[in-house]
Amino acid sequence: MGRDVARESGVGVLPPGPSQAVGLLVDRDVPSHLYSYSFEPNPDWSHRFSPGAEIQAYFEDVARRHGVAERIRFGQEVTRCAFEDGRWRIETADGATDVGDVVIAATGVLHHPSLPAIAGLDDFQGAAFHSARWDHDVPLAGRRLGIVGTGSTAIQIVSAVVDEVAELSLFQRTAQWVMPQENPAYTDAERAEFREHPEILKELRENISRLFADGFSKAVVDADSPLLQAIQDACRANLEENVRNPELREKLRPDYRAACKRLIISADFYDAIQRPNARLVTEGIERIEKSGVRTRDGHLHELDVLVLATGFRVDRFMRPMEVIGRHGTTLEQAWQDGPTAYLSISIPDFPNLFMLNGPNGPVGNFSLIDVAELQLAYVLQLVERIRAGTCRELSASHEATDRFDADRREAAKHTIWSSGCQSWYLDAHGVPMAWPWTFDRFREEMRQPRLADFDAV
Ligand code: NAP
Repeated sequence: MGRDVARESGVGVLPPGPSQAVGLLVDRDVPSHLYSYSFEPNPDWSHRFSPGAEIQAYFEDVARRHGVAERIRFGQEVTRCAFEDGRWRIETADGATDVGDVVIAATGVLHHPSLPAIAGLDDFQGAAFHSARWDHDVPLAGRRLGIVGTGSTAIQIVSAVVDEVAELSLFQRTAQWVMPQENPAYTDAERAEFREHPEILKELRENISRLFADGFSKAVVDADSPLLQAIQDACRANLEENVRNPELREKLRPDYRAACKRLIISADFYDAIQRPNARLVTEGIERIEKSGVRTRDGHLHELDVLVLATGFRVDRFMRPMEVIGRHGTTLEQAWQDGPTAYLSISIPDFPNLFMLNGPNGPVGNFSLIDVAELQLAYVLQLVERIRAGTCRELSASHEATDRFDADRREAAKHTIWSSGCQSWYLDAHGVPMAWPWTFDRFREEMRQPRLADFDAV
């Protein structure tokens, strides 16, 4: 292992950027220099893809230094948001109320754990938790760990813990394509250079952003893209060359196209799953019992800890919050056919309510930080009109929203996500929900609101 198949396989059809960015055609998920605010570059990232604690420390530090942290009311769950007499009335779970002229729902998409409908989940006597509700009090060292799922989350967990646990069982329902991607550390000299020359850091960020925009994010919305074929070839080579046991290799071989599901980026997953203490279980799960997972072949896989890396309920967004717009229209009613929003930001009849990382946005294949920055700049242009008194209420018109929705459904047919696999990108009707155009188009759309598409009062 340890080869940069992305580079070797010639996937690099893009113009080379600085050395750190070459070969960076897909995100694993997003390089740290791109997963940073444009106005707060960080010269001190330790790696191309820095660990979670470092990322959290960066965001907390930025929030503190910009005076944001002190304005946050922590531990508050908003339960109701109603548009009454031209303003939003907000209620929280502890009974507090507040009033706002404008509400920005920045709740995002990947945050409501999806628990699998597997019989007996409550019978398990060991520790069991969803990956997004990790119980850090549960020791893993020397214990028998089971992981359900093979999404990006599960794959990263496998590599991170396989050397710590006594036994690891990965319960796979669907095999995944795995794109190898190295994660080099930045040297002290590089970090010093970034600190002394902010213009180099700025250029690096811009180059990575351009590689993404021209590369992977363009490819996923064009199922015929040669880059997708090159990625598939690189993933296949990774599988052929790095999984020694032919039986295991076939179990790990997907029967759909690479990037149809969210592409897995990992330099070490195949190594990890071939460790003597690791086992890939492809037999379906029958039920969970007090001492482990019973598969359909009757085998009981005894476990001490069970991690459910089973993804998220991606249609929830700010729900279960009760949101009531104009004329008593509820969000449940507006979204009865599934969540949708004009340009991912505004919902008809929900005036002065705007979303960041809402439905139909470019999620999953780009830096959500960049997405949120662009969306916020767009929203603030609308807010400024309200603040200046040009209008009191602004929400996307039904006509513009219907047009946007029809266009994005049509465009979705040409994306790789429509090429024949099951994934969280698909809605209940099998239509990809994600932004089906290029990132450049998104950036262009976010430059300035088309006011004719809004109902202004
Ligand atoms: P996911 O991609 O939705 O994967 C869920 C996994 O659970 C799938 O393998 C699914 O199998 C399996 N599963 C669900 N229900 C099951 C059941 N009843 N029995 C057996 N298996 C079951 O979720 P995720 O891995 O948490 O990733 C979600 C998204 O978060 C990613 O696509 C990515 O956008 C983001 N993410 C980002 C990073 C990062 O480093 N930036 C890391 C992790 C995740 P099937 O495939 O058969 O449905």
